[in-house]
Amino acid sequence: MLWAARRCADSMTVNLLDFDLEGLAQFCERLGEKRYRAVQLFRWIHQKGAADFDAMSDLAKSLREKLKATAQVWAPDVISEHISSDGTIKWLFDVGGGNAVEAVFIPEEDRGTLCVSSQAGCAMGCRFCSTGHQGFSRNLKTGEIVAQLWFAEHFLRRHLQRDVRVISNVVMMGMGEPLQNYSELLPALRTMLDDHGYGLSRRRVTVSTSGIVPKMDLLAEQCPVALAVSLHAPNDELRNKLVPLNLKYPLVELLAACDRYLDSAPRDFITFEYCMLEGINDQLEHARQLVDLLHSNSGRSGWCKFNLIPFNPFPGSGLSRSSAKQMLAFAKVLTDAGIVTTLRKTRGDDIDAACGQLAGDVMDRTRVGERIARQRTVMLRPVAASDRTARETHHG
Ligand code: SAH
Ligand code: SF4
Repeated sequence: MLWAARRCADSMTVNLLDFDLEGLAQFCERLGEKRYRAVQLFRWIHQKGAADFDAMSDLAKSLREKLKATAQVWAPDVISEHISSDGTIKWLFDVGGGNAVEAVFIPEEDRGTLCVSSQAGCAMGCRFCSTGHQGFSRNLKTGEIVAQLWFAEHFLRRHLQRDVRVISNVVMMGMGEPLQNYSELLPALRTMLDDHGYGLSRRRVTVSTSGIVPKMDLLAEQCPVALAVSLHAPNDELRNKLVPLNLKYPLVELLAACDRYLDSAPRDFITFEYCMLEGINDQLEHARQLVDLLHSNSGRSGWCKFNLIPFNPFPGSGLSRSSAKQMLAFAKVLTDAGIVTTLRKTRGDDIDAACGQLAGDVMDRTRVGERIARQRTVMLRPVAASDRTARETHHG
């Protein structure tokens, strides 16, 4: 009930984290202020992490009073924080209505990456994804997307006693399908890129999508950041089962959209993510099909990279992770064909912070989890070991 009370009070005021710089400039105008005030305010919020208007010492007192009456800088409460032995940190945010979303910080030698959520749950229902099993609850607001970065960046600066930027990369690979929440995502991306905000380069902000073709075109036009596409299968028959969105946007259309995206992309390649599921999509024959598919669908050379993700199991998935040996053999087929391929390390294993384990706690309103579980036995049958050897020997 505490939450409900706070939310009601909040609904009287505007959350400034919902605005990109242009939105904030318009808000300042509505308050009867000059647009350039927005730059000062934006810098206080995003660069200094300030939420208290009284602390914004170079803003006129009259403006601070107006802000106190009409606005706030509001981030969802952090329900829990887990720090892994490898330095990965996972936060769970309360986004109300019984829903929680997660953000994960992954420190590496040369960068700090934050994995950000875009929705509470997800409607796409991918077979191997824990978020997909929960069904869709709701889209996050721009402010709830930005709040994950705002909170993490300023928490980490305090925690690590750093006064320079800690997070250098953002990947929209947390819970949800970012392109299904396009209108809220766009101002969030702009805030991440803005020099008065987080000043991240377009190459260091990655949107990952299961392949919503029209929104990929829109992103290319309005805010081209690095793009990762969740491929997971080399043919429509299998991809239809693993990523149901494929029924709407099949592989030829998806790959054509990738090709168009490259015209405005900040990098000269698209990253394909491929979750390695034992006996389902990890056969050498699948790798060979991928090579053919990619070569026949683009005239460009070196236009894609592969990121093989070891499947992260979750209760009730009924799927297993491919063996390390199989993943290496699969990767070799791709690299031998000239496709740059990396095997993603799993990070934060001890705190369930890996891809697809970002389950948060979302009410399954659509009962999609149950539906998927019912379909499981008919939809996917792993290739039997004997079958497998026969097929691979044949092609070997
Ligand atoms: N909805 C977007 C982004 C969020 S998922 C998308 O699908 O691209 C981020 C990545 O994690 C995707 O590539 C997704 O396919 C992958 N993923 C989902 N569940 C997984 C699991 N259980 N194990 C490994 N990777 C998983
Ligand atoms: Fe949604 Fe991505 Fe999970 Fe598919 S893999 S269900 S699109 S979050």
